[in-house]
Amino acid sequence: MNIFYAPAKQINNGYAELTDQEAIHASKVMRVREGDQLVIVDGEGGRYKGPVRRITNKSVQIEIKNKEKLSQPSPPLILGMGIIKKRDRLEFAVEKAVELGARHICLFRSEHTIKENVRMDRLESIALSAMKQSLRAWLPQISLFNSFKDLLEAFPNAHYLTAHEKIDADQKNMNFNAGSNDQLLLLVGPEGGFSTDEIKTARDKGGQLVSLGSHRLRAETAAVVFLSQFLS
Ligand code: SAH
Repeated sequence: MNIFYAPAKQINNGYAELTDQEAIHASKVMRVREGDQLVIVDGEGGRYKGPVRRITNKSVQIEIKNKEKLSQPSPPLILGMGIIKKRDRLEFAVEKAVELGARHICLFRSEHTIKENVRMDRLESIALSAMKQSLRAWLPQISLFNSFKDLLEAFPNAHYLTAHEKIDADQKNMNFNAGSNDQLLLLVGPEGGFSTDEIKTARDKGGQLVSLGSHRLRAETAAVVFLSQFLS
């Protein structure tokens, strides 16, 4: 099944309109024709089905015959990830986080961050493809924070779980008391790991340190392993 994306503002009066890259993808790459049935998601839980009615150079219009509202992935998972230097590894992490149902992906500049800047436009388009690929209807937001502390402060009510490879045996378990609707902020350091200060900040704010096993994982692997603990 091929899924296309149209933001909610392009869904009006019983019609959905694909524009820009989505329109090109539909008409030039997938070669859809008038009458073909398409599935459209709006990134906010809406999923629509219906036939293509009009194809122009810039847009593809679909008449909506069926619409559903899908619920957000649960529990509410937020991935907080230190920026990693290698672009393809960071992009991999974002793609997998979307597939695994993160609601929000927060990248942060940490004390051990080597590379400061990220191409947000690329990450957003990767997230969009991953949403469609995994047949999801919710598009996670991607945000950038200037420090680990700023990130924690942006989610004052979340339950913080910090993946840390250097922790004592008595802190290793992943049992925690969180309701199913509580936001879980899963924190993964960059390739250089968290600094001592960052670990202290996480703890001072009531966060829990979590082990993902006795071996050292790359940051992007840690993000995948961490998120997959909560697959529903
Ligand atoms: N500081 C390390 C490498 C960091 S690995 C060093 O250079 O020696 C990058 C991030 O992945 C870590 O900050 C941590 O969040 C996560 N991570 C990797 N392996 C882990 C493990 N076994 N348990 C928990 N977290 C892990």
